[in-house]
Amino acid sequence: MKRHILLTSTSLVFSSLALANPFDGSYSFSIESYPLDTVIWATTTIPVCWEDVTINPTLQLAVENAVNNTWELNSQIDFAGWGQCTTGSSGVRIGVADFATMGPHTMGLGNDIDGYPNGMMLNFTYANWGTSCATTVTFCTTVIAIHEFGHVLGFAHEQFRPDTPATCTPPPGGTGGNVIFTDWDLASVMNYCNPSWSGNGTLSPIDIMTVQTYYGNVPIYYENTNRLEIQNVSVGSTSYSAILDFDSSTNNFTLTSTAAAIASSQPASYNASTNNIEIPFFKVVNSGNHVTSLYAATLNYNSSTNRYTVTSTTQLQPTPTAAPIP
Ligand SMILES: [Zn+2]
Repeated sequence: MKRHILLTSTSLVFSSLALANPFDGSYSFSIESYPLDTVIWATTTIPVCWEDVTINPTLQLAVENAVNNTWELNSQIDFAGWGQCTTGSSGVRIGVADFATMGPHTMGLGNDIDGYPNGMMLNFTYANWGTSCATTVTFCTTVIAIHEFGHVLGFAHEQFRPDTPATCTPPPGGTGGNVIFTDWDLASVMNYCNPSWSGNGTLSPIDIMTVQTYYGNVPIYYENTNRLEIQNVSVGSTSYSAILDFDSSTNNFTLTSTAAAIASSQPASYNASTNNIEIPFFKVVNSGNHVTSLYAATLNYNSSTNRYTVTSTTQLQPTPTAAPIP
């Protein structure tokens, strides 16, 4: 496995993607957060353990809290456990060491490190590596941990993207992603060119959209089947999950089925007075099962036809670069 080293640290080729769906705001977007979607964890509960749970409980709790207040807070992810690793422990196994020549890193992206001993390495002392952190140990450790947990979630370095501007010169580092559906993000905690070091551990708006895309149980529009799945739509005081199917001949949706709601970081809502379903965030997935873009949309229910018409759409990411197609 390749290592992801925060402060030290390779190129990619993309095919372009084309949108064709009832929410299209723009045909002209450059493919462009930087996830590797082949290593996304199958469930939102991901075990975490320490190779030595006694090494520094105060800093260990600071790491747990930092991850809790960033990636977990903004998604449905639950990094669970945080106790002593045992032989055969699955999930994220965190080691702590201070080697002059090896900074904090993960041994791969996403679930590639599932159960890998010392799959993440952190530094708690900075006597040999990153010595400027020796006087700000908690700050450095938590900022680094937030970055490394980004790798755990399957996110590569932003500066690895093929559209990285020439002004951002640090090496890509580690393994690259394989999908781009957001603007290139200088403010990402995964971007070495962020003028604040790893964003000082503050997730950027695009970091948040990215984690929600994969770990937020957000609504999904499947281009190949024209199906819209909404995991959580509130109707008055009750919430449901719903499946709607697009009929291109009539240019509207029919409600195919409803079921119990699933906790979502981006719930939708139905307004009984306007008959609108407001969907603040959903991802568009292409026939290759890759996310290509993020949208918000409003669907209006017509009780006489029993169908739902798309009355407005906003392409959230990537930011549209061309006038909407009429
Ligand atoms: Zn990194």
